[in-house]
Amino acid sequence: MYNAQRLSIKVHSQTSSAAAQVQLMGSTSKGYTLMEQCRVSSLWNAMKSTSHRTNRRRFLGALGAGSLVAAFIPWKTTFAQVQAGAINAASTEPIDGVFALPPLPYNYAALEPHIDTLTMSIHHGAHHHSYVRNLNTALAGYPDVQGRSVVDLLYHINDIPEAIRTTVRHNGGGHLNHSIFWATMGPGGGGQPVGTLATAINATFGSFESFQQQLSDAASRQFGSGWGWLVLDGNGNLAIVARPNQDSPVMDGLAPLVGVDVWEHAYYLKYQNKRGDYLSAWWNTINWEAVALRYDQARNF
Ligand code: MN
Repeated sequence: MYNAQRLSIKVHSQTSSAAAQVQLMGSTSKGYTLMEQCRVSSLWNAMKSTSHRTNRRRFLGALGAGSLVAAFIPWKTTFAQVQAGAINAASTEPIDGVFALPPLPYNYAALEPHIDTLTMSIHHGAHHHSYVRNLNTALAGYPDVQGRSVVDLLYHINDIPEAIRTTVRHNGGGHLNHSIFWATMGPGGGGQPVGTLATAINATFGSFESFQQQLSDAASRQFGSGWGWLVLDGNGNLAIVARPNQDSPVMDGLAPLVGVDVWEHAYYLKYQNKRGDYLSAWWNTINWEAVALRYDQARNF
């Protein structure tokens, strides 16, 4: 089922940069699986194919990660740039199963100095890798749920067989959250959004600076591991939420537009206990074009 989806990949960039002209067509690489499965069209199909048709909501369009990579640069392996032993051996092992680790749309050093190369390599190559591997392992004995997107699995988490429900919640959530995280950051990021997203942020939060403060506060106050998110709710309104562990806003019918990972693995190597410093730096990595695309897709569905 997923093979068919993989073969229909076609990512059109909507930015003007040269790198953004890259198109991915017909790739059979497992690495692009998430890119395709999170595209809005396949997401809608997944949602509509379930008995939850009445719960289909326009804002779920923002759940797609792959279609929102505004500037897709072929993944470059930069293992040589990081110190030996930094990469968990698991990161170089192929992953069997329906889900795949999506390639990072920039290299591990691209977010320097805000997010360091070593953290990026471990975060993507080992942590995210593990979420995908664990998710696949959990689903291996359940063919009935293997044809569903990770968004679909999480949105209907209470329908997942109880024996694997918690594993899917943790690792499916980890897979989706990180996929969105990578897709909404990039080199040369930061600044402020423009257009309808900027208007909505100003209308909702008073100003961009106020929005920044509120999202940083929410992420800062999240006790222990978790995420802070800007989401679009079922009424088409922006909101800021925090979630523990890898719980996805998707589970509550909220469309995650952009979020920040505040697990210690996301920042401890460079920032140690200074979560606030990491949060301040993270704002300099945001790819607002990608976030705006997510917003537009959610809003217009
Ligand atoms: Mn993480």
